[in-house]
Amino acid sequence: MNRFLNELSALKDKGNFRTLPTLKHKGKYVQTSDGLLLNLSSNDYLGLAAEQDLRDEFFQETGTNELLSSSSSRLLTGNFEVYEELESFLAERYNRQAALLFNSGYHANLGILPALSNKHTLILADKLVHASIIDGIQLSGAAYKRYKHNDYEHLQELLNRFGTLYDMIIIVTESIFSMDGDKADLKRLTDIKKSASNILLYVDEAHAVGVEGETGLGLAESLDCISDIDFLVGTFGKALGSMGAYVICNSYFREYLINRMRPLIFSTALPPLNVAWSLFLFKRLPLFKNRRVQLKECAEWMRKELRKIDAGLISSSHIIPFITGDNESTIALSSKLKESGFFALPVRPPTVPSGSARIRFSLTADITITDLKHLIMLLEWK
Ligand SMILES: *Cc1c(COP(=O)(O)O)cnc(C)c1O
Repeated sequence: MNRFLNELSALKDKGNFRTLPTLKHKGKYVQTSDGLLLNLSSNDYLGLAAEQDLRDEFFQETGTNELLSSSSSRLLTGNFEVYEELESFLAERYNRQAALLFNSGYHANLGILPALSNKHTLILADKLVHASIIDGIQLSGAAYKRYKHNDYEHLQELLNRFGTLYDMIIIVTESIFSMDGDKADLKRLTDIKKSASNILLYVDEAHAVGVEGETGLGLAESLDCISDIDFLVGTFGKALGSMGAYVICNSYFREYLINRMRPLIFSTALPPLNVAWSLFLFKRLPLFKNRRVQLKECAEWMRKELRKIDAGLISSSHIIPFITGDNESTIALSSKLKESGFFALPVRPPTVPSGSARIRFSLTADITITDLKHLIMLLEWK
């Protein structure tokens, strides 16, 4: 047997073997070989991607005029008008100088930190930031430390101890954390950032854009601190029902990234049709307030119910992890939920710290409390 086969069988032994689920989307449900299941693993938080009417409207209004490929990097011949239209629109909505688009959140997080960093840079990142940020940090080659999750005393301690050794410090966090569903204290972070002129703040709002804030701009909108964040990363692939990502920043940072950021420079830009769809949905974002309210109410109810079973529940959002601990029990629970009509995938190490395997429930605006009552009973009897 070769090394690859050995590793695959070791993964199977540890309950860590991953496969690609086969399914068909049907609104808030997925059709699988186990039947029609309520999708509790979707990132389509507002239910926009699932909605036929919106797609019809888009194709009537815009659709067929836009190309399906940009055929090039934006720095060559792939810079279409619609990209700059969306960027101007984003900058205006966030009331900031500039925005820059990327092919995905992964590209954004992989490329921005390496572009900004040199050997005089220190990156201080929350312990639980997304894999794409970790990869970006590693690629940057900069010195880095990770502070305990949402522990700003620890962050301050690291700043005091190491901050003076570097010219520039970049603090990196998510706003709503993808696996725990809890929130960073952005106010506290902006205060820390403002304590010295060489600190930059980088916030990944992948799970908050669309969902948080009066007009759906994210947690920084709710907390009124958009102007204090140097790099606010948002993605189109989750609540915005599209594909791609953006950063909101100052004009000179935008220019700098265009000159230095490799995943932007060396990759074919998103299809113009796709960018037009992102723009179409982003323009309507303020109108989806009812969906945000519905999502919030349903998530609050589910957290309240789950807290009766799991006193240690950490979530404060629509992402609600149910931690079982080891891989086997998580997989068993996921299978049991499947038999009862719920599609909720297990999340295992290394995606989450070892010993904290979980079912990660993520709610969407088209799910109701009635849909979830049976689920809560199943979790009680687990
Ligand atoms: C999903 C996710 C990303 C990656 O975004 P894509 O557009 O899916 O590549 C980045 N950051 C966080 C926190 C995410 O959850």
